[in-house]
Amino acid sequence: MKVLVINCGSSSLKYQLIDSETEQALAVGLCERIGIDGRLNHTPAGGEKVVIEKDMPNHEVAVKMVLEELTDPENGVIRDLSEIDAIGHRVVHGGEKFASSVVITDEVMAAIEECNPLAPLHNPANLIGIRACQAIMPGVPNTAVFDTAFHQTMEPVAFMYGLPYECYEKYKVRRYGFHGTSHSFVSARAIEVLGLDPKDSKVIVCHLGNGASISAVKNGKSVDTSMGLTPLEGLVMGTRSGDIDPAIIEYLAHSMGKTLEEMMTLLNKESGVYGLSGVSSDFRDLEAAADDGNEKAQMAMDVFGYRVAKYIGAYTAAMNGVDAIVFTAGLGENNHVMREYICSYLGYLGVEIDKKENAVRSVEKVVSTPESKVKVMVVPTNEELAIARETVALVQ
Ligand code: ADP
Repeated sequence: MKVLVINCGSSSLKYQLIDSETEQALAVGLCERIGIDGRLNHTPAGGEKVVIEKDMPNHEVAVKMVLEELTDPENGVIRDLSEIDAIGHRVVHGGEKFASSVVITDEVMAAIEECNPLAPLHNPANLIGIRACQAIMPGVPNTAVFDTAFHQTMEPVAFMYGLPYECYEKYKVRRYGFHGTSHSFVSARAIEVLGLDPKDSKVIVCHLGNGASISAVKNGKSVDTSMGLTPLEGLVMGTRSGDIDPAIIEYLAHSMGKTLEEMMTLLNKESGVYGLSGVSSDFRDLEAAADDGNEKAQMAMDVFGYRVAKYIGAYTAAMNGVDAIVFTAGLGENNHVMREYICSYLGYLGVEIDKKENAVRSVEKVVSTPESKVKVMVVPTNEELAIARETVALVQ
């Protein structure tokens, strides 16, 4: 089967056409600046990247342009649209309604819409993408794969906040968690590669990218994760603060003369390693600055790594042990210095990194020594492939 995987943002649309037999992407691309002007980057497998600047007033036009490129005589990878068997959509928030992926129906659309208040920037964009595909390719099944679904196995002990119960009952305020597709894909892969018993295994997944989260996966099920009602909770991230004392919000709003909205911008876009360093949210820039003697850049990276190490300790306690710690996403896969720094806190668990094995980028590999009591691995994440697999399982 050929599955088109779509990930819609408010002004962007990422896509991959995946052949489910070979599990290879036939083409990957990105529409940017939708509603502003419009740019399409399209790369057929083994071919050159094509950049097309053309007006994209809305997501429907963007989807049309993607389909034109996929069938283009020169840059295309299929002859006509009938070759696309299904479309898998990444949907950010499924609330408590979705504990797994689903084939999209009118009822599903309504349920996703009900989750809009929980992810006001993301879910509406996801719905627009789905509607655009339904309009242009009627009859082709669409599926929704939720960022939150994998974490629906969390028990109340992990997902409840210490707030009045009414906040949960009336306003659905609880911890949901995100990056679920990645945590699911990566933990399953680690269990397979390490030969762990899927029914008796304890894995901690560190998804460290610009957005970063960590999860405790016991017997293949998520029992805890660091992101909460929104992706703001947990680790210090590229530009997000992660955990803070909630009283800071009122204190700084008063002190800095900021509105609540401006405070949320500060916490989501101006904080994290970017805010701490004043340099960048990208760890490559931070490393370069630290090498030039910038102490704040070094401090920002240390704060980031220390928070990850603390969460690993917490999740080891939550599972009463850990068999494997797995690093994934841009930073987790590529930055061996950060992996080593985080693991330097884990000697009490008997974690031993093999420096030589650890000096790798983006390859699936065990990077701990044979003696290490806990295995440490790098597993490149592939959320698009995970969405394609879910889609095939649902529509076949
Ligand atoms: P997101 O998908 O959340 O936007 P990514 O998973 O792409 O983020 O991760 C971004 C981070 O990963 C950046 O801080 C960047 O420094 C790091 N990163 C990505 N690719 C590389 C690479 N090839 N070498 C070193 N660091 C990298």
